[in-house]
Amino acid sequence: MNRKGILAVVSGFSGAGKGTLMKKLMEKYDNYSLSVSATTRAPREGEKDGKDYFFVSKEEFQSMINKDELLEYAQYVDNYYGTPKKYVEAELEKGRDVILEIEIQGALSIHGRYPDSLLIFVTPPSAMELKNRLINRGTETEENIKKRLNRAAQEAVGVENYDYLLINDDLDEAVERLHKLIQDQHMRVCHQLDFISDITKQLRTLE
Ligand code: 5GP
Repeated sequence: MNRKGILAVVSGFSGAGKGTLMKKLMEKYDNYSLSVSATTRAPREGEKDGKDYFFVSKEEFQSMINKDELLEYAQYVDNYYGTPKKYVEAELEKGRDVILEIEIQGALSIHGRYPDSLLIFVTPPSAMELKNRLINRGTETEENIKKRLNRAAQEAVGVENYDYLLINDDLDEAVERLHKLIQDQHMRVCHQLDFISDITKQLRTLE
């Protein structure tokens, strides 16, 4: 396997500030292609179909699964979420670094499929901060906040399977650290096999 782009998977507790982190990263650097997921959840105010998510019915989601159009999918709270395969594969092939912002089950299934992917888990500095962010976002009902906090507690269980923990305290700092983590992956030998092969050939011609 010698793909050119890095596949970075970013997960984290709901309310950890992943959305804002991604937005800032994309604004600051043009290295990245952000995958747009399909979901059966209803759009929140201001969310656009095709930009934030592809909002689909349960039937449409099932049909995407049947046609093998998803790289991974998972159920989160009461809805399904999945990563469309075509875009991710095409961008990686072009040499673009691709970011998936997905939850833990999906992240682990991506890691099984792409062992050289990079798994980053984003967390706020404290549990109280997480609750406050969910409340301040103003988009979730009280019951949903409870469900999400509960789910967050469950998500911490799998965090040891990730490569890096990113504490999102200062946003600008977190953006820089995320960018550096992803860019450093290009130096991993598994992403430099073409280079190694070229230099080996050149060395032989010089023998
Ligand atoms: P939200 O409803 O807050 O937009 O997303 C809920 C959770 O689903 C978040 O943890 C988000 O990262 C995750 N998610 C979004 N898209 C996907 C996807 O394509 N696959 C998986 N497995 N999780 C996703």
